[in-house]
Amino acid sequence: MTSLSSPDTSRAARRSGLMERAITKLLMRPARVVAAEFVSEHFRFIDVEGEALTACDWSAGDKVQVKLDGGLITRTYTPIGWDKARGRTRFLTYCHGAGPGGAWARSTSPGDQRHLFGPRSSLDLRDSGVSPVLVGDETSFALAACQRDDRGAASGSRFVFEVNSLAESRAVLGAIGIVPAALVERRDDDGHLAELCEAVSASAGHASIFVLTGKAQSIQQVSRALKAGGIDASRLRTKAYWAPGKLGLD
Ligand SMILES: Cc1cc2nc3c(=O)[nH]c(=O)nc-3n(C[C@H](O)[C@H](O)[C@H](O)COP(=O)(O)OP(=O)(O)OC[C@H]3O[C@@H](n4cnc5c(N)ncnc54)[C@H](O)[C@@H]3O)c2cc1C
Repeated sequence: MTSLSSPDTSRAARRSGLMERAITKLLMRPARVVAAEFVSEHFRFIDVEGEALTACDWSAGDKVQVKLDGGLITRTYTPIGWDKARGRTRFLTYCHGAGPGGAWARSTSPGDQRHLFGPRSSLDLRDSGVSPVLVGDETSFALAACQRDDRGAASGSRFVFEVNSLAESRAVLGAIGIVPAALVERRDDDGHLAELCEAVSASAGHASIFVLTGKAQSIQQVSRALKAGGIDASRLRTKAYWAPGKLGLD
């Protein structure tokens, strides 16, 4: 019978532990959770603070990977703001399913020590024009929150989301000042995607840039519909946030 802790296995474990510590120290910024508040049953604000976050340059749309327990496992979130002087940022997380990201978002509490990789560029919204159309789902609400101006109003931008719960999403979007937003209820057989494509087309202005995020397959379908409707590919910015069966996209 093979021993579970043969010399080979423990050497490999030691090596991977060393590598994890080296990568964490070299590339990641230590920080700790200082506040975690449910906005609704499935959405949570998580505030993270650390001296290392005072030395970051952040732009709206950037991503941060949060290192979770169990090796070099990270999950990606969109900071909704960055207080450089205090070294503090905030995530708006969608707590779904049983994956490590969802589990962390649901259960973290003040004092939780984490390491962050980033902020790094993901979607550059600086050239998105006066009236971008932001399309996505629950995981895109944080990106939408980045579109608010200094007064907290989402001026100019238009928002279209596919969501599991219309009522919950409307309440959360209201709480973060993303009003109005067109919401389409998700169906298991994706039968709602035609309605989603129509809602996106209806939101388009002449000079709009379309920022498509969220579920990979929905992005593909909306993108195809927009191009079929005569929208040039140069007006599309796309970034898949998750895809069924894939783990931890970044
Ligand atoms: C650039 C970028 C920015 C992001 N910003 C945010 C953000 O600000 N807030 C946020 O909540 N999320 C955000 N996400 C999405 C988040 O990283 C993913 O949802 C991630 O997969 C969650 O990790 P997990 O461990 O819960 O699930 P995983 O272990 O990665 O996946 C487990 C299973 O759950 C499925 N799954 C993953 N996400 C969802 C979902 N939303 N709904 C249903 N099934 C899902 C997977 O496809 C897989 O089958 C972002 C992703 C990227 C790439």
